[in-house]
Amino acid sequence: MHATPRSPRPGIRVWLAALLATATLATGCATNTVFNPVTGRTERSALSEEQLQAQADEAREALIDEHGLYVHPEVEAYVTEIGLKVAQLSHQPNFAWRFTILDTEISNAFALPRGQVFVTRGLLALLQNEAELAAVLGHEIAHVTARHGAHRATEAAFANFGVAAAINVGQFLERSGLRGAAKRMKRLGLSLASGLIATYDREQELEADRIGTEYLARAGYDARQMVGVLEVLQMVERFHADRAKEQKSEAPGSDWLSSHPGTDQRLRQALRLTAAARHVASDGRDRFLKRIEGLVWGDSPERGLVRERLFVHPRAGYAITAPAGWEFDVEGSAVAMHTPEGDATLTVRLLPKLAGRTHAQVIENLLAPTEGRSTSRKVGSFSGTHFIGSRMRGEARHPLRSTVVSGPGQRLYLIDYTARDEAALQRALAAMQAAEQSFRAITNADRRAAQVWRVTSVPMPPGGFAALAKASPLLEDAEATLRLLNGVYGETSPEAEPAVGTRVKTVR
Ligand SMILES: [Zn+2]
Repeated sequence: MHATPRSPRPGIRVWLAALLATATLATGCATNTVFNPVTGRTERSALSEEQLQAQADEAREALIDEHGLYVHPEVEAYVTEIGLKVAQLSHQPNFAWRFTILDTEISNAFALPRGQVFVTRGLLALLQNEAELAAVLGHEIAHVTARHGAHRATEAAFANFGVAAAINVGQFLERSGLRGAAKRMKRLGLSLASGLIATYDREQELEADRIGTEYLARAGYDARQMVGVLEVLQMVERFHADRAKEQKSEAPGSDWLSSHPGTDQRLRQALRLTAAARHVASDGRDRFLKRIEGLVWGDSPERGLVRERLFVHPRAGYAITAPAGWEFDVEGSAVAMHTPEGDATLTVRLLPKLAGRTHAQVIENLLAPTEGRSTSRKVGSFSGTHFIGSRMRGEARHPLRSTVVSGPGQRLYLIDYTARDEAALQRALAAMQAAEQSFRAITNADRRAAQVWRVTSVPMPPGGFAALAKASPLLEDAEATLRLLNGVYGETSPEAEPAVGTRVKTVR
C-alpha cells in the first residue's frame, strides 16, 4: 500500500468539494411536518420521526463501533441520572433519552436526534463538578429538543447524502492508510451523517447554550456553570496548543470546541445570560468526584496502551516495541507506528476469523496481490509468512509488503509495511524489521509497564502539583496534565491554586 502519511488534508478538501456539489442537487424527498416545541412552530422535515429514529440508531452503532462503549457501571449510572434529571425538565421530557459514555480520551460530547446523548470519558475527566456535567448534557439535550440534528439530517436527506455514505468515506480512507485522516473523516462523516458535531452553525450553538443554560437552572444548578464548562474547554485547547508548540506539531485542540465555533462569542453570551443567576450553595463537586472515582485516563485497555516505546494490547493479547523516536497511532483494533517524519509506517492488527484460516488465504483475501512471492519467516517465537509484491489498481501499481503471523492465542495477526516511496521504505526497513521481531505475547514485565491509569481524588499535598505529579504514573507533562485535570491549567494567580488539603483529582 502506498500511503501519503503527512497530507490527509487535500483528500478531505476534494471530498468536501464533491459533497458540496451533491448538496446542490436536491432530490425529491417526501416532506413531513413536525412541531418544534422550542420555537412553538411546525416545520418541514424530509424525514418522518421514524426515519429520523432509524438514522439515529444507525449513527449510534457507528459511533460505538468507532470509539467503543465505556463500561463503568457507577459512572454510567451517574451520567444517566444527571442527564435524565435535566432531560425531564426539557421541552421533550417524553423522548426515549439515552446517555452513553464513549471509550475515548478525546474530549467531546454530542447528540443524535430523538434523545441520544454521548459524552466521552475524556471530557468527563476534565469536568470539575456535577453542575458542569449537567451543563454539558444540557447543551446537548438542547440540540435535540431544538431539532438541530433533525435540521441537519433534513439537509443531508435533501442532498441525497445518507448516513451510510458519509461513514463509508471514513472507512475507505482508513483502509487506504492515510495517517490521521480516518479519525478526521469519521468525525466529519458522522457529523454529516446525523447532524451532530462540527456542522452546527453558530446560531445553533448559541441557541443550544441558551436553552441548555435554562435547563441547568430548571434542574436546580447554578446556571453560571455553563460559563465554567466553556472555560474548561478553552483550557483544553490552550493545553494542546502549548504541547503542540513544544513538539512543533499540529494542535489537535479540544474536539468539542473545534466543533463548536465561536467560543468567545458563546462565553460572552453565557456571562450575560447568567449574570443574575440564582446562587446555588453546592455545585456537587464532592458527589461528582466520588462518582467518577476510577475513571480510566488516557489509553483504553480495550484498544491498547502506549507507554513510551511499548504498546500493549491486553484484549488482542500482544505487545510490541516501537523503534526509538517513532510515534504511535492507535486506531480501532490496529496500532500504527510511524517515523517522526511520518514517511514510513508499521501497522499491526489482530485479524478477524473471516480474514482467512491460513497465511495464504489472508494474503489472498486482504492484500489481493497481482503478483508477488511469500517466504516463511520467524517472528519472535511465532511462525510467519512474509509477502512482497504488488497490486495493480487500474494503471497504478501499489507495492505490498506484509507479514502474516500465527501469534498469541493461535490467532492471526497482520503486520503491514507502508512508506511514502521506496527510498523512505529502505531508510526505515531495518527499524521496522526489528520492531516486527519484538512482537510477542504479553509478558509480566509488559503487564507491569502497562498498568491502566485511573482518575482518583486525594487531598492536595504540601508540595502542590509538583508533588502530585511526582506521585503519579504520568510519563509526559505530568504537572501540566494534573493542572488541566483540576481546571487550573495556565492560571497564574496564586489564589487559583488549590489549597493544601483540599480534594483534587490525580491519576493513579
Ligand atoms: Zn453544540
